[in-house]
Amino acid sequence: MQATLTFLGSGTSMGVPTLGCACEVCASAVPRDAETPAASPRNRRTRPSVLVAWEDRNVVIDTGPDFHAQAIREGLRRVDAVLYTHGHADHVLGMDDLRPLTFHQPAGVPLYADEPTADTIERIFDYTFRTENRYATSARVALNRLPSTPGTQIELFGASFQRVPVTHGRETITGYRFGSAAYLTDISDIPDESLPLLAGLDVLILDALRRQPHPTHSNLENSIKLVERIQPRRAFFTHMSHDLDHDATNAVLPPHIRLAYDGLQLTFDITPETPPAQ
Ligand SMILES: [Zn+2]
Ligand SMILES: [Zn+2]
Ligand SMILES: [Zn+2]
Repeated sequence: MQATLTFLGSGTSMGVPTLGCACEVCASAVPRDAETPAASPRNRRTRPSVLVAWEDRNVVIDTGPDFHAQAIREGLRRVDAVLYTHGHADHVLGMDDLRPLTFHQPAGVPLYADEPTADTIERIFDYTFRTENRYATSARVALNRLPSTPGTQIELFGASFQRVPVTHGRETITGYRFGSAAYLTDISDIPDESLPLLAGLDVLILDALRRQPHPTHSNLENSIKLVERIQPRRAFFTHMSHDLDHDATNAVLPPHIRLAYDGLQLTFDITPETPPAQ
């Protein structure tokens, strides 16, 4: 079954342009005035998230602070489930923007998160999840906690999303494999045990923050090495800072590795014949 993946956002936690920054990449991302378009619109990067759509289903991975604008930009009118990678602000703060998309779903839109992420979401949005004095027009969502046992899978509308544990600084967070694609944002490394879950990929989406090393994120050089190791047919980098100019960076990458950009769409097979290893 063919699915479409749309990059709702491809930027790092601070977004590009970064507030207060006047560097060339940040400056190239904004229109100079009403008549002059941005020199490099693909350098405009909102906070990281992807939409996976197949048949009439829409599944979103992470709802960051830009979710409202991203959903309007992409004409997103229905969300059937949200999967979370971890509890940092750039991945969860837009949860409340789901509200109008949940009111018509009496059972609630299912959210999936590992234990620490679910705790963070419940703490931030306590008025949504408390059982007494719940805010009347809170999001109608049902938070499902993913066990940390290896091979955890979520079955959604005929497709299967498998949890891929990844390293984000000192934490282990959640990446997802779904059919022939995998989304691994906010990684500093991939543990050896997770590599078999990434065999035979068509599309690999990986964090590549900047050129210089960073304690909690993979840099460009390391992400290229990870692609060489995992050997997907195509790879796309995301969660990028203003260090990476879209066109200049793409020009030096091998042709099967590209920088993602907001609005980029890919098609892939979400129900391939050979499912990933358990
Ligand atoms: Zn992040
Ligand atoms: Zn900048
Ligand atoms: Zn993070």
